[in-house]
Formats: sequence, structure tokens, C-alpha cells
Amino acid sequence: MPRPLVATIDISALQHNLRIAKSHALDAKIWAVVKANAYGHGLERGIRGFAEADGLALIEPENALRLRELGWQKPILLLEGIFDAADLETVVRARLDFAIHCVEQIVWLEQARLSGPLDVHLKMNSGMNRLGFKPEAYRSAYQRLRAIPAVQKITLMTHFANADEPLNPGLPLQQQVQRFEQGISGLSEERSVANSAADLMHPELKSDWVRPGIMLYGATPGGASAEQFGLKPAMTLTSKIIGIQRIGAGEAIGYGSRFVAAAPMVIGAVACGYADGYPRHAPNGTPVLVDGVRTVTVGRVSMDMLSVDLTSVPGAAVGSAVTLWGKGLPIDEVAHAAGTIGYELMCALAARVKVVDL
Ligand SMILES: *Cc1c(COP(=O)(O)O)cnc(C)c1O
Repeated sequence: MPRPLVATIDISALQHNLRIAKSHALDAKIWAVVKANAYGHGLERGIRGFAEADGLALIEPENALRLRELGWQKPILLLEGIFDAADLETVVRARLDFAIHCVEQIVWLEQARLSGPLDVHLKMNSGMNRLGFKPEAYRSAYQRLRAIPAVQKITLMTHFANADEPLNPGLPLQQQVQRFEQGISGLSEERSVANSAADLMHPELKSDWVRPGIMLYGATPGGASAEQFGLKPAMTLTSKIIGIQRIGAGEAIGYGSRFVAAAPMVIGAVACGYADGYPRHAPNGTPVLVDGVRTVTVGRVSMDMLSVDLTSVPGAAVGSAVTLWGKGLPIDEVAHAAGTIGYELMCALAARVKVVDL
């Protein structure tokens, strides 16, 4: 008798969203991003959902190997490259593409005398200031890589901070684009620039490869709602009402008594808490569906449960179906209410939650 909390994954939504990404990307090839366990959806489902992608991109080397074990034959890209010289053997054996973002990684390659061929993605720091070579250092990094016999293809890569908010005064998108163009001028290799936001909102950006992640799972990177972009939610998190309390005015709910009823209320306990990945910082009023009726959370989220207002949900009973996010309740809305983003909710889905196919 399992807990009623289940994340249901709709593979056809993953496939649909990939088609939307393709339609925006025009002629560009697609790296479907499957880092963080395919944003919580499961690597193996990522393979099925993104079979039509040109490659899969992720962060975790061990999961890249797992993709090979699961039968993925097309390219795989390690977005942060390798973390240690000892990983080079692995990338050669599993035929992994990998990013090169710092001089230490180049030194590892120079010293390894590998037999290749290696396909690398030279990352430029065009203003985000996390990883990559500054535009003025890019050319010499490129030349050092070119001098390594095992290196075959070099893709020119950067990442945008504000594709969903191009006029952000901290770093306008256009400024990053200009720096990138300057840094790569004269190089004719393929380019890889766009995440979901750039793919959806900036078709004018020239890129041979795009790297969509969040949109493939049916959430928005910002700018507009997922639905407006035609995206379908792939993950629906559902549970049940497991207990009901009728309380009077002045009575409080849960730890810290954060919610006090102003009038008599019917309160349902839902089997889902922060140990499942539901955000503990979700305030009173975070949206939730009970029997398809939209209502709200009340009181603090606890480890294994949260409380919802059933006062206006006629017929709600122990066993009533609850949707925490997904079909009928966009994850972005829940995330927004909780002061976070859909990405974090999906990725934080806890290991104890059962994940099933639709
Ligand atoms: C995660 C990631 C992406 C995908 O970003 P989304 O916003 O989820 O589309 C693209 N490129 C790199 C380098 C990433 O790390």
C-alpha cells in the first residue's frame, strides 16, 4: 500500500515540446538538456521523449555513461566538461562531447596524449561570469585546442543570462551577443548559444545548435506562460486528501500556527510535504486542485503533509484527488506563489516520490 503521492510523466508531452523547440529553432540542431535526472523526469524517459533530438546534454558524467548503457547512440554533451583529468578516459570510451571552459581543462587535454577523436565545445564567458574564457582570451584557447591532435571538432559556445529579459540593465542580451561575435570573429566553426528562453524568444540569434531544457518539460523560462508558447506539462504531481478537520474561528493550523481561521473552515491534509520536494516556503494561498476545484494551501508545509482549504470544495472527502502541479495547474504558478521557479520544483522532486508513466 504505497503513499498516494505520484508524479505522472507524459512522454507524449515531452515529444510535443521537443517539436515546439524545433519549430522555433528553424534549421538549428537540438541538444535536449537532460541534466538533473531530466529535470526530475528520469533519464530513461528523457531518452524516449527526446528520441528525435540531435543529442542529449547534461552535467553529470556518470549519467552520461548511463545514457550510453540505456542505448542512446547519438551525441552526448557534458555541459560543464570534465571535473578531473582522470575523466578523459571516460569521455573517450563513451564518445562524449564536452565543454572546455577553463585553462586547466586544456592542460589536462594537452598532457593526456589521447587518441581521439574528441569533439569539444569551447565556452566563452560573454558576461555571465560563471564559466568560460573571456572574449579576449578566447582565440588563444582556441589555438591551443587546435594544436592538440586528438581534437577534431570545436564548437563555439556561450550562455545567456537574460534571454527571457533582454533589456536587463545588468547585462543586456545584445551586449552578450556582441561580445560573443567579437570573440569568435574569423572562426567558422558551428555555434551553440541558445537555452529555452533564447530558443523561444530570440529566433534572430544565429546558432547552429540550441540547448533547450525547461521548455521541453512544459514549463516556461520566463517571458510568457508555457501555455502561450504551446508547451504541455510533462510532469503532474498528484496525491490524495488523507484526513479532514472542521475548525472554528480562531483555530490555527500546523506548525507555528501560521494560519488562523477567521471563520469556521474545512481543512484537508494532503499526503505531500517538503520531504517530497514540495517547497516549504510556499505561503498560505499557494494554489492547489482538489477534485479539479482550485483552492489554496493554508499553514506551514510540513515534512510529509500540507494542509488545504476545503471549505469551498463541495464533496471533498478522504480520498479526494489532489493536484499539486502539472495538468490543470501550471508548475510555474505554484513556483511563483512560492517565490521560486518551475525548474527548482521539478528538479527537487524527492527520491521517495513514485514516478510513473501516464
Ligand atoms: C541548463 C542549461 C541549458 C538549458 O537551460 P533551460 O533554461 O532549462 O532551457 C542550456 N545550456 C546550458 C549550458 C545549461 O547548463
